[in-house]
Amino acid sequence: MPGTGQIFYVAGAGISGLTLALALAKFGAAVVVLERSPVLSEFGAGLQISPNARRVLDRLGLDEAIAARSLEPSGIDIYPYRRPSPLVTLALGQIMRDRFGAAYSVMHRADLVDALYKATRRFANIDILFGVRSWDAQSHARGITIAIDEAGGQTRTGRGHALIGADGVHSQTRRNLLGGPDAQYRGRVAWRTLLPFDSVASELALDRVSVLFAPGYHIVCYPLPHRRQVNIALFAKVPLQKAEAGTVPVLPRALIKSPRIETILAAAGNNWTPWPLYGVDTPHWHLGNIGLVGDAAHAMLPFQAQGAAMGIEDAAVLAPLLVGEPTAEVAFAKFENIRRARVVRVASTAVSNGRIFHMEWPMSVARNAVIAAQGSQGHLKRLAWLYGHDAQPPADLNQSGSGPT
Ligand SMILES: Cc1cc2nc3c(=O)[nH]c(=O)nc-3n(C[C@H](O)[C@H](O)[C@H](O)COP(=O)(O)OP(=O)(O)OC[C@H]3O[C@@H](n4cnc5c(N)ncnc54)[C@H](O)[C@@H]3O)c2cc1C
Repeated sequence: MPGTGQIFYVAGAGISGLTLALALAKFGAAVVVLERSPVLSEFGAGLQISPNARRVLDRLGLDEAIAARSLEPSGIDIYPYRRPSPLVTLALGQIMRDRFGAAYSVMHRADLVDALYKATRRFANIDILFGVRSWDAQSHARGITIAIDEAGGQTRTGRGHALIGADGVHSQTRRNLLGGPDAQYRGRVAWRTLLPFDSVASELALDRVSVLFAPGYHIVCYPLPHRRQVNIALFAKVPLQKAEAGTVPVLPRALIKSPRIETILAAAGNNWTPWPLYGVDTPHWHLGNIGLVGDAAHAMLPFQAQGAAMGIEDAAVLAPLLVGEPTAEVAFAKFENIRRARVVRVASTAVSNGRIFHMEWPMSVARNAVIAAQGSQGHLKRLAWLYGHDAQPPADLNQSGSGPT
């Protein structure tokens, strides 16, 4: 494989960092990934991977690995509050492939991270350092320098073309190196659990996603058949003080007055992990030869199921720019120019979904009427800009001598 002679440092071996490492390595660049955790992190639960993200992953050669550990749900059942049958089933499955050219799938986050990690092991030009204790980097006119305190206590210093912070919502890269803001609490908590496959089979169709609306909260459920589990996430408002006082937010059981939701809650018992939801709104995604991708740049509410998808799209756009542009600084500027408007649109769609999902009576009646009238076709048409997007660098990018290998 011809190398580009460039070395990139990526902070964070999550979905964004590993996808970027793969995308850069495919161009022949050398990549060093720094991961704080001593092992691949198993945190998180289920993820919906929409066609805009899946297309990128398929191009990186992950189609089979993902297909082996994911499900293509046949649709999304929308249940208004206390309604025994779905208001509408929004079709997914083959329709998504036909219309958008890639699958809509659901899988466990850890399974996607593992598939990405295994794919990186096929590249001699990707080095992943786990258990990194600390690191510091500086941007110079011709690249970056970095000092890394490794797991074993030794210090490694290096020079590189760029450092990319894929270090998540509370990113050190954003706050310390770019002088960016802390993540902001968004007034919502997700409670997540995984239930045995059969425990909710009487309440939910297990070949589909189910979204249950309720006044002030909503629940998203989908099966992870390869684990024989069902992923459940309940989202509700929790005031700032309660979420930030260091106390563990308590599941708002008093809100719940729907037989179906009570059955799901009973199946889970106290086995819920609360997850206060933070967002990132930072004026700069880069400074000199240091830049950001994924949640580090633009963490968003998960109400359009797109946070990871945006990190994956970021990688597809940024990698060719980094190897093709004369400097990383130019690449980061073009990247932000291409990506910011789309990411802002996705994040604001997620915010309005949160409002729509949690509507109270009588607004909920109007909402249900609109969703029913729109139906499956209307849903696909409304989101074609999102799912049909093909994340690519600009067509005029000069990639002479460094095409994918
Ligand atoms: C309830 C919920 C449901 C969601 N559902 C979906 C969904 O259905 N679809 C979807 O697309 N998205 C979804 N998301 C969003 C998605 O989980 C995130 O957007 C995505 O995981 C972000 O990936 P990332 O790689 O950018 O960051 P992270 O996953 O946070 O990875 C960051 C990595 O960096 C490491 N790290 C942190 N600090 C340092 C440091 N200083 N040095 C080195 N390493 C460091 C961490 O250990 C971690 O491995 C959901 C989120 C939530 C909370």
